[in-house]
Amino acid sequence: MYLSRQIEEYLPRPILELVNDISRQAGRLGQKVYLVGGVVRDLLLGYPNFDLDLVVEGDAVKLAQQVPETGQAKLLAHKRFGTAKLRYDDFTLDMATARKETYARPGALPAVTPGTLMDDLIRRDFSINAMAMSLAADNYGELIDPYQGKGDLERRLIRVLHSKSFTDDATRILRGVRYEQRFGFEFEAQTADLLERDIPMLNTISGDRIRHELELILKEKQPELAIKRLGELGVLATINPSLKGDGWIAEEFDRARRLKKPTQLSSLYFCLLIYSFTENDIEQLLVRLNIPAKLSRAMRDTLRLKTRPPLLDKPSLKPSEIYHLLTEYEPLAVQVNAIATESPTVRRSLQLYLTKLRYVRTALNGEDLKKLGISPGPEMGRVLRILHKAKLDGEVRTRADEKKLAVSSSLKLER
Ligand code: ATP
Ligand code: MG
Repeated sequence: MYLSRQIEEYLPRPILELVNDISRQAGRLGQKVYLVGGVVRDLLLGYPNFDLDLVVEGDAVKLAQQVPETGQAKLLAHKRFGTAKLRYDDFTLDMATARKETYARPGALPAVTPGTLMDDLIRRDFSINAMAMSLAADNYGELIDPYQGKGDLERRLIRVLHSKSFTDDATRILRGVRYEQRFGFEFEAQTADLLERDIPMLNTISGDRIRHELELILKEKQPELAIKRLGELGVLATINPSLKGDGWIAEEFDRARRLKKPTQLSSLYFCLLIYSFTENDIEQLLVRLNIPAKLSRAMRDTLRLKTRPPLLDKPSLKPSEIYHLLTEYEPLAVQVNAIATESPTVRRSLQLYLTKLRYVRTALNGEDLKKLGISPGPEMGRVLRILHKAKLDGEVRTRADEKKLAVSSSLKLER
């Protein structure tokens, strides 16, 4: 089957011309280039996907270095892995030398040697991801589908390529559920059995790799679907006994998404996942997933802040009091609590802090205070804190207000 016509309609003209240029250059070097993986799958499904993966029978790094100067591309090459990434403004091009992989033991990173396209396809996770489309002149557009991926797309099935697939690499369990839920597919019967059998193999996988796959899940449109499914399968409990994928999670994820500017949405989801954890649970998870320092702080703060409401749950708090209660916490943790708290009063305070209070600055700085005769050091520190507090509480508005307050409070301090 040939996809020459489909690819013309699917890829924007400049991208198509670029990959065709690359392929022509490869041809001159006696090498062949293929589109592989997600983009071929999504082309057949009719979903847009501009993260293009190219496999080169030859040398991907050399080829990438010769890509005609288009001005805007950033090249990131890994000679040792035979891979190169070209990053453009609105799409990326991953180029990889076709490789053969062997697994010394379950969960280990595979040993890699150069190989053919066929070697490169059999190392892949699922039949729907193990298709390629040739870009070479002599069979341009040919679909290469040794594992009936197209048939599985039509039957809406996720199928592994061999029975040791999840044993070799149990991250595929997480990947499989991600695709199952994204596309609304099902696991093919034997794959489903293998998956259940191999869930304990997740214990052979490093924290970084599990975390990476969880992050990919949390970047899905509706990650709660995969999270729920992973809960039902017992995958979450294998990662950490307290991880749950229940209805509460779905509701909170939905609220998180509806926030105005959810910049770090996947970190936000991550913290929601641990909202009902104990301190102990959190420490275990931080170690198991080797969570980086900043997110670790946000997770710990999420819990510390959650146990603060007795102080925060008062409608009469002044803005400066709210500020001082919250300023020591990671903003992400404040955000998580604003979403998940049951108290409307607490939520209002947290929102006020997030949207306004944390940005409040005095008009006067140290230089200005010096000019007013206030000497640098502890005294100036105290005056600045007085000004900041007054500004938070709306007691001063203008620069002139601040000057007046600065002078009078420094006089008071002197006395
Ligand atoms: P999407 O990005 O839409 O989730 P994708 O297919 O591009 O889908 P990536 O995670 O970008 O997925 O991986 C690219 C390709 O690499 C996949 O299509 C798959 O064939 C292969 N791949 C990635 N991870 C694994 C793995 N753990 N085992 C086997 N193959 C993998
Ligand atoms: Mg991809």
